[in-house]
Amino acid sequence: MIQPKYINHFKALETPFYFYDLELLRETLQAVKAESSKYGYHVHYALKANNDEAVVKTIANAGFGADCVSGNEVKYVNDIGIPGKMIAFAGVGKTDKEIKEALEIGIFSFNCESIPEIEAINELAGEFGKVAPVAIRINPNVDAKTHKYITTGLSDNKFGINHWDFDKVGRALKSLPNIKLTGIHFHVGSQITDISVFEKLSLKVNKIQDWFSNNGFELEHINLGGGLGIDYKNPQENMIPDFSRYFKAVHDNIILKPNQQLHFELGRSLVAQCGHLVTKVIFLKKGVEKQFLIVDAGMNDLIRPSLYQALHEISSLTSNKQEEKYDVVGPICESADVFRKDIMLPAVDRGDLIAIHSAGAYCQVMASTYNMRNLIKSFNSDELSR
Ligand SMILES: *Cc1c(COP(=O)(O)O)cnc(C)c1O
Repeated sequence: MIQPKYINHFKALETPFYFYDLELLRETLQAVKAESSKYGYHVHYALKANNDEAVVKTIANAGFGADCVSGNEVKYVNDIGIPGKMIAFAGVGKTDKEIKEALEIGIFSFNCESIPEIEAINELAGEFGKVAPVAIRINPNVDAKTHKYITTGLSDNKFGINHWDFDKVGRALKSLPNIKLTGIHFHVGSQITDISVFEKLSLKVNKIQDWFSNNGFELEHINLGGGLGIDYKNPQENMIPDFSRYFKAVHDNIILKPNQQLHFELGRSLVAQCGHLVTKVIFLKKGVEKQFLIVDAGMNDLIRPSLYQALHEISSLTSNKQEEKYDVVGPICESADVFRKDIMLPAVDRGDLIAIHSAGAYCQVMASTYNMRNLIKSFNSDELSR
């Protein structure tokens, strides 16, 4: 999964660290481009999944737009080279400062989640003498069938505007001179592996479009958000998600108006498989019925297993001895600091390296210094091959 030429370099590096395989990332980006361009769809990268500079530069160079959820993200991707016109800005709580910065840059759309937010953007845009492009984030009440912390499209979530508020929103939009409704936006959740969710979403979008046309709004774009899942169980067999099936599922169900553009905001599916957390075995500890493999990475470096009960594949990088059963745990003073329980791995010793796979999305970005540990660093395949 990680090419041996890189593993040789790992031995000289201080652990733990994230390793990003930019070769795989480029292949993944090419696959997305090939499949989305079949239908003329636009893909933004959801920066919150991974903001590593080399990763983001690779994505920017491949010509993707960005989807941001904070003012700092907007500035960061813009500085890296993604033009304002390709940046969408989402989030339920945009501050005045963030709105002003985005107005200055001149972004593609403010994806708005409430009437007070639309009013605030209208006012600030007025101060700038600008008309702000606004897309309404709609809560389509589609069940993403994923973990409860990453489901966002149901009516009891804090996200989006519900259909019973459309009339009120429509009136607000018509009364505010410094905003222009350019589109409607959806994002129903993350790590969605059931493609029928996207079919259902597309059909819902068709109905919602009707409301907007019937009420005199012409929408330049529809934004379906992200959420396409990846294979955490068998990363080896599914390094690149099935983008062909994903875009086709949407294409076969969505009805676009003439000249209307369709946008996507993919995060996890672009970057998850190119990342690995490399960590060293500190101690082996034998319990009564368990063997604990204590590594130098902890839940502060990779929190998904503790936060979402996520299961990441783990492999040994330096041992090929006969397999034994382990609980792989970190050094943090929390019982939740467990990466995997009862997994089979080649017998390892103190000093052996192991890798936690599919760790390119929502992993390094959530790292902290809890227990006063160092903030985890990253290396990438380009710099190690130099
Ligand atoms: C997080 C997020 C995304 C990306 O989700 P993935 O599951 O990583 O594809 C897209 N759009 C919005 C608004 C988001 O908040």
